[in-house]
Amino acid sequence: MDFEKILNGSRNYTFHSHTQFCDARAPMEEMVRAALAQGVEFYGFTPHSPVPVPSPCNMSRESVPEYLAEVERLRKLFADRPIRLFAGMEVDYLGPDWGAASEYFRSLPLDYTISSIHFIANQHGEPVDVDGSFDNFKRRMADLFNGDIDYVVDTFFHRTLDMIAAGGFDILGHFDKIGLNAGYYAPEIEDGSHFQGLVNKVIDEIIARGLTIELNTKSREQHGRFIPHERHLPRLIQAGVPILVNSDAHRPDRITASRDEAFRILDTLTHKHGTPLA
Ligand SMILES: [Zn+2]
Ligand SMILES: [Zn+2]
Repeated sequence: MDFEKILNGSRNYTFHSHTQFCDARAPMEEMVRAALAQGVEFYGFTPHSPVPVPSPCNMSRESVPEYLAEVERLRKLFADRPIRLFAGMEVDYLGPDWGAASEYFRSLPLDYTISSIHFIANQHGEPVDVDGSFDNFKRRMADLFNGDIDYVVDTFFHRTLDMIAAGGFDILGHFDKIGLNAGYYAPEIEDGSHFQGLVNKVIDEIIARGLTIELNTKSREQHGRFIPHERHLPRLIQAGVPILVNSDAHRPDRITASRDEAFRILDTLTHKHGTPLA
């Protein structure tokens, strides 16, 4: 999907939002009403995709047709309102057999996909969610990863590189998000050259492949940071990487959270480096 063309300069959008079919706190209709009230003109739904492992946060394969029908119903319901709705999906990458490039996801009539990592394989090859709250992360570090934070960080970024190589998606989702939980677990880890080297490898690939990324604002208020971390924005902007500001909202009152601040930062950096943004 050509986001730049669709937006035509508008900043009143979000292309990352969740639904009752996955783990949002409100039904899609309520999210659209809230988006309208917050001045959003382009609104993309991206429920967490089906995954082949038990997960309370992901939609089931059976509910996918119901989700797509609900987008259609809402398009009709809001046809005379100044908002355009998009049927997207945040597709989990779980390895070569499961991701946005898989035949199943390619066959769905979606407008676009975000590709994200929430699960990585532990040392026994079992998929473990590393994206949740820090309390859960800490417990899983002890119970499922043998306390090996370097393993978790390395595996997260190597899986991210595999996901990029597999392709088949429109937006790369929150690509250094492991820094959030890893940073709580081992406070200096993110500043280290090993961690930064891994992030920079991902950014090399983003630039080389001309990927569109998101500046995800979901963690800004609660955790004081954007995803990716602000320190990476100058390099991304200098390279002309298209960046969409997405709120990753799971609640109606979060649809435009921290958006103005995100655009202010991007504008300041763009002014400095003179590169246009998506
Ligand atoms: Zn996500
Ligand atoms: Zn999300």
